[in-house]
Amino acid sequence: MKQVQHFINGQYSKGNGQRTGDVFNPALGQKTKDVCFASVDDVHTAVCVAKDAFLKWSKTTPLKRARILFKFNELLRQHIDELAALLTEEHGKVLSDAKGEMIRGIEVVEYACGIPSLLRGQFAENVGTHVDSYSIPQALGVCAGITPFNFPAMVPMWMFVMAIACGNTFVLKPSERCPSVSLRLAELFKEAGLPDGVFNVVHGDKEAVDAILQHPDIKAVSFVGSTPIAKYIYTEAANHGKRVQALGGAKNHCVVMPDADLNVVADGLVGAAYGSSGQRCMAISVAVAVGDIVADQLVEKIKERVEKLKIAPGTEADSDMGPVITKQHLERIQSYIDTGINEDAALMIDGRDCQVPDHEDGFFIGASLFDNVTRDMKIYQDEIFGPVLCLMRAPDLKTAIQIIDENPYGNGTAIYTQHGATAHEFVSNIQVGMVGVNVPIPVPMSFFSFGGWKQSLFGDTHTHGSEGIRFYTKLKNVTARWPEQLTSGASLKMPTME
Ligand code: NAD
Repeated sequence: MKQVQHFINGQYSKGNGQRTGDVFNPALGQKTKDVCFASVDDVHTAVCVAKDAFLKWSKTTPLKRARILFKFNELLRQHIDELAALLTEEHGKVLSDAKGEMIRGIEVVEYACGIPSLLRGQFAENVGTHVDSYSIPQALGVCAGITPFNFPAMVPMWMFVMAIACGNTFVLKPSERCPSVSLRLAELFKEAGLPDGVFNVVHGDKEAVDAILQHPDIKAVSFVGSTPIAKYIYTEAANHGKRVQALGGAKNHCVVMPDADLNVVADGLVGAAYGSSGQRCMAISVAVAVGDIVADQLVEKIKERVEKLKIAPGTEADSDMGPVITKQHLERIQSYIDTGINEDAALMIDGRDCQVPDHEDGFFIGASLFDNVTRDMKIYQDEIFGPVLCLMRAPDLKTAIQIIDENPYGNGTAIYTQHGATAHEFVSNIQVGMVGVNVPIPVPMSFFSFGGWKQSLFGDTHTHGSEGIRFYTKLKNVTARWPEQLTSGASLKMPTME
């Protein structure tokens, strides 16, 4: 059986960890690889290598770093089909979606190519007589990333690309369920000219994660995953004196106003709720229809569209929805549908009985839709992370906003309306980090920053864009006096520029 190893100091290594994990092809429902799990020692080795590499890399000029990033960008584009195929093989998402994920990751590299100007700092002349003041953003040291299964390329690229562009070195612990693509990214980055030791990948589970959180030479930790683990990472990493950003789970609502074009809305909702089988942190899992007429029409329009969806392995060209990640996850989603029925939500589309020819063992589930969902229901409160859309009914925009604001998550949200003032009211008042107006999945471009609010983010900074630069650098402020004559006698007074 194929073995997935660590990538440390530019080379593959089994490490000395004794445990391994199973990697599946979810479309077949078959185990295809063993992934080595890093021991505490293996993590330590990767951190030591990264610490050594930092000495040179942090002194490499931003322009030289940018040249490597430009080359990396070129190689990623050349290998995009191969990378997408690897994503589909281990994650199950359809190839077009996998390619879209790669494009979103590549956009971070394109943004990072501007690192010479992004790291310019600030300068003020004559803050006092003969005194100038300037700030320099400097690299932190060794940074680490811990990432989820659902975007095995894009989410790591939010982290390691930005960190390395800023002059840091990096240790990535990707999801043990989709470990291979990160290794291919590491190989391509090396081929682009990245020195060995700057980017390292260690696989594993809690043992590897805890070793990262506790390692004294790791200065910053970025995490993306579920909310309970995000909270744990935030607390543990902060307790160990690290800078930390931990992005958590989501329950994203889409408000549909009576003036919206419901055909456009239904197209958008079907894509946003069921794309990637609902396993996106920005998936819409709750539609809030303002008015019963809107709700009734939406149910019909969503039904029409769902009937036409093709559920098949992601490798089939016209497949709309691939499998979910594991058998356990499939069973968890199925049990949420049972729960919804028991809670008296109206199951309008039932995706449980889903047969895919020649893939009987694959982890497939169809799209489901619940109507008349209320806030006390578990299917509303929990993040299901599958192709299950909950439809709620609100009498007016104020109630819809209240529902969203009282939800503990605050990752993404959207509104469909043709009315500017309605959209403006929604955008200014809603307590959510990323907002779409007639855009169901409002993922910011790489030159803006990505991150939620409330239980969807622990820490202060979002990823990539200017917040990414801020997270991966620390500011040094310099106050410099260059008078002709320096000595004027010692003074113990508070220094001012008066
Ligand atoms: P997860 O929290 O189970 O795992 C994420 C990472 O944490 C993995 O690398 C895993 O190995 C590690 N981990 C798991 N359990 C751990 C433990 N007990 N101690 C230490 N480390 C542990 O998440 P997942 O199932 O891989 O991904 C899906 C989740 O990620 C969903 O909740 C989704 O909303 C969230 N997500 C959020 C965003 C965002 O930007 N906010 C983006 C993508 C995914």
